[in-house]
Amino acid sequence: MDTQQPPLFRPARQDFRWQGVAHQPYKQDGSAPFKDISRQVLFHEDSLACELRYFEMDAAGFSTLERHEHAHAVMILRGHGECLLGSEVLPVKPFDLLTIPAWTWHQFRAVRSEPLGFLCMVNVSRDRPQLPDDADLARLRAIPAVARFLAGD
Ligand code: MN
Repeated sequence: MDTQQPPLFRPARQDFRWQGVAHQPYKQDGSAPFKDISRQVLFHEDSLACELRYFEMDAAGFSTLERHEHAHAVMILRGHGECLLGSEVLPVKPFDLLTIPAWTWHQFRAVRSEPLGFLCMVNVSRDRPQLPDDADLARLRAIPAVARFLAGD
């Protein structure tokens, strides 16, 4: 109990920002394929062993296509888009819930007309995401809906 954090109140601000929470745009340095996405870590609680983050991509932006051992619990909060989840492409809207199990390919893409934002709960201690190799991409593109999603159409 000696590591317990003091109570904290962080009021919401406009445009899905929170007082005292750093807004972290991802640098597009070419090391991973994503577009116009930012992260805010809302909670990082070692006693809970989890973090709650808010990710947002601008209109037409997208997250990295990846998979990893750790799972995600996601709630859409803002806008509309699509989520690649395993072999499915799902339209998403505010308050939809997604559970992304271990080793499941996933990627989010905002519609062209508005941002897409979501809460994502994750383990504090977690493995690094794996990116698809050419064989993985070929397997994914063999599914027509996934091929269309990956092409950004
Ligand atoms: Mn992930």
